[in-house]
Amino acid sequence: MQAISQPAAVPFAPPTGWRALSPQNDPWDPIRSLQRFGRHELTSVELTVTHLCNMRCEHCAVGDSLTMKEAPYVPMELIFRRLDEVEHLETISMTGGEPTFSMETVRNILLPLLKYARARGIRTQLNSNVTMDYERYELIAPYLDVMHISFNYTEAEDFHRIGFARTGRNVRIDTTAKMYERMIDNAQRLSKGGLFVSAESMINFRTYGKISDIHRLIAGMGCQRHEVHPMYPSSFASGLPAVTREQMFDAVETLLNTRDPDVWMLFGTLPFFACSDNEEERRLVRRLREEKNVTVRNDPDGRNRVNVNMFSGDVYVTDFASVPSFGNIQNEKLDDVFAKWRAHPMQEAVNCHCPTASCCGPNLLVSDMYYRDIDFKSKHAIP
Ligand code: SF4
Repeated sequence: MQAISQPAAVPFAPPTGWRALSPQNDPWDPIRSLQRFGRHELTSVELTVTHLCNMRCEHCAVGDSLTMKEAPYVPMELIFRRLDEVEHLETISMTGGEPTFSMETVRNILLPLLKYARARGIRTQLNSNVTMDYERYELIAPYLDVMHISFNYTEAEDFHRIGFARTGRNVRIDTTAKMYERMIDNAQRLSKGGLFVSAESMINFRTYGKISDIHRLIAGMGCQRHEVHPMYPSSFASGLPAVTREQMFDAVETLLNTRDPDVWMLFGTLPFFACSDNEEERRLVRRLREEKNVTVRNDPDGRNRVNVNMFSGDVYVTDFASVPSFGNIQNEKLDDVFAKWRAHPMQEAVNCHCPTASCCGPNLLVSDMYYRDIDFKSKHAIP
């Protein structure tokens, strides 16, 4: 059992003796467990803790499942038992909706989960829009490792346009401008208090031309990490225009050229690989690997992570649209559900690994979108 104490000056710093999260220590990256166990193992559980949200972002990955009223939860005893059983558990992520939307969720779900994780030495991440009152973040921050926020804006108008696109009613700009200010203020205060705040931006039709400005604002909020993913228009976001691979490429390169070197840049779900026939893409992959304070995280979904819906108990291995739930915690252990997925032909098809490139293959969405006819298992990283 690890100590649960923080120095008073930085109330949200991790417990003394815990190894800091850094480009060299990212327990969410599935390459770690692959290297350690020689095959993909379940080390990470994501919990969907709410379907409520105060926003309706146009790109929301779970937009179709958001509701106005919460369903009953499965018992917490069952959740804890299933987490206890995961032999190699290292990280827990909590997602929604907006996990802090209801104080009941904060008190009855988030706090017990966070305290459980701390007592077991497990790292936690909360995916939040941090637009609610600071007091609720202050309650959970002392037990949390990563506050993960979305940030795709350069001004309050962007926030209004992107974040309230799908509300189905007219939300006033002065109301959303206040939320925008609160989000920035909350992120700054939490960072100042020693919490690791990681801001995620998408590369999409709205952001690719101003990604450096977005990065500057994120650095200015004191975020320790900027996480960047291309947006793949699927499910709820399927009506949005896609950017080309060249535009994605340019956005990544621009960020590398203009970034604040003190902020950890984490890229994920990029469509560029070390085995590419395209020399320019391989050059970019090499640059990403060699730059200081820059990492490319392999996609955890279906590699070292499953998602558990805390209302139905259903277990998902990936948010890829055509993969339905793979089991349910009411009658199955999570390691057993994961073992079924590991043997599944869809997982097998992208189960490549090139140690020299620290790469374990494309995620399903990327392979479906760009590489339908490519057999990654017959490819290799090109030095
Ligand atoms: S692990 Fe797969 S995707 Fe990555 S470089 Fe190797 S063959 Fe390509």
